[in-house]
Amino acid sequence: MTESAPDCLFCSIVAGDVPAEVVHTTERTVAFRDVNPQAPVHVLVVPRDHHRDAASLAAADPAAYAELATTARAVAAAEGHDDFRLVFNTGAGAGQTVFHTHLHVLAGRSLTWPPG
Ligand code: 5GP
Ligand code: ZN
Repeated sequence: MTESAPDCLFCSIVAGDVPAEVVHTTERTVAFRDVNPQAPVHVLVVPRDHHRDAASLAAADPAAYAELATTARAVAAAEGHDDFRLVFNTGAGAGQTVFHTHLHVLAGRSLTWPPG
């Protein structure tokens, strides 16, 4: 049974109540394309259960947290990329706008460092 939060956009996507272009699913995760892509490949990998950020997920469900990373690599590989960037924005000051843990998978262009 998936643990969802009311009025959470990504819980609604996991439930299939809000449409998204889903590219990969696992027992604990769903991966779908970002609606506002910042690279040729920009996919969000989310846990099926609701947790507000990456650290909260890692504390509550380490297996699901690990599955985000393995799913991210599978998504990048399926798109033909060995090189990719994974990002967890954590907190509004770091750019988090949706408070359901999501791992950004960015690939398909040269990525500079440091990020903005
Ligand atoms: P954050 O800023 O919280 O790290 O990332 C949230 C991401 O969710 C943004 O990159 C934004 O473009 C994406 N996003 C927001 N609303 C939707 C939506 O309805 N569908 C999809 N597929 N992505 C969304
Ligand atoms: Zn949620």
